[in-house]
Amino acid sequence: MRFYLATRFLFPRHFHLRIFTICFVAVHLPLLTFIASQAVIGEWEWQIFVPLLLATLAGTLAAIYALGALLAPIRQASAMLREVQDGKPVVDVPAGGRDLAGELLDSVGLAAIATNTRISQLRDAAERDVLTGLRNRRGFLDAAAHLRAGTRATLALVDIDFFKRINDIFGHDEGDMVLREFASRLTETMRRSDLVARWGGEEFAILIPGMGPRDARALIERLRTALHADPIGPNPEEPVTFSCGLAFLRGPEQIAVAMQRADKALYAAKRAGRDRIELDEARMLDA
Ligand code: GH3
Ligand code: MG
Ligand code: MG
Repeated sequence: MRFYLATRFLFPRHFHLRIFTICFVAVHLPLLTFIASQAVIGEWEWQIFVPLLLATLAGTLAAIYALGALLAPIRQASAMLREVQDGKPVVDVPAGGRDLAGELLDSVGLAAIATNTRISQLRDAAERDVLTGLRNRRGFLDAAAHLRAGTRATLALVDIDFFKRINDIFGHDEGDMVLREFASRLTETMRRSDLVARWGGEEFAILIPGMGPRDARALIERLRTALHADPIGPNPEEPVTFSCGLAFLRGPEQIAVAMQRADKALYAAKRAGRDRIELDEARMLDA
């Protein structure tokens, strides 16, 4: 490390140029010694000097090329680290050899993969609801933002009816169980391409791409009737029901306004007596 630090004055920001300089001086040493000895003797032997000069030049070029190539693992390792620092996924992890530079490359590669995995785990954890395993509000909005521009879709806001009663009568743990069961019934009903999320508390948001509100209504109606046929919840006398508000949208930029409309429709469903699905009629012509 001392020599490394002591030679920093030679190209402080370019490690390879330091190596090239040291190599250049080392390769020229025999030639310089020859020139000095000729000067001391006072003779000049061209037939020795010319081949020596050519050999020195060829040796210098070959050494600089070879050293540059040998530094490739270090260059690749630092490129990988830069990608990790920039938060980019490291897709190409080159394998190193069994020497010092190869080991360095392998270690950096493993560290880059581990860091990427950890980052994506943390990102996923930040976007998931711990109780139900569904996306949370942030995960929903992040994923919904990827809806292709102009794509028609329906947004559904689903709210469990009289959920507070379940907590009050049967306790919070039983309430949690209902939320989990409800979430899994919701996921079973929806298609893989639909985005299902826990919007908060006992409220769920669903984005149904490529479907107008009438078809979406039929889809959610299936869940409503299924909950009647095969109820969930701790009280068979009072099976769990939900109310739902639907709003139509085109493209991700309309998500926020569709959210407000779906919320209004949900409120209308609650006021109308719960256990029902209401459409936001304002943009129905568009659908
Ligand atoms: P409404 O039909 O009008 O929707 O009535 P509600 O009782 O379902 O609605 P309200 O907003 O009065 O109560 C919602 C309750 O949900 C209150 C809150 O304590 C409960 N809650 C929110 N998050 C959780 C949770 O993670 N677990 C449990 N067990 N309860 C929760
Ligand atoms: Mg509720
Ligand atoms: Mg609610």
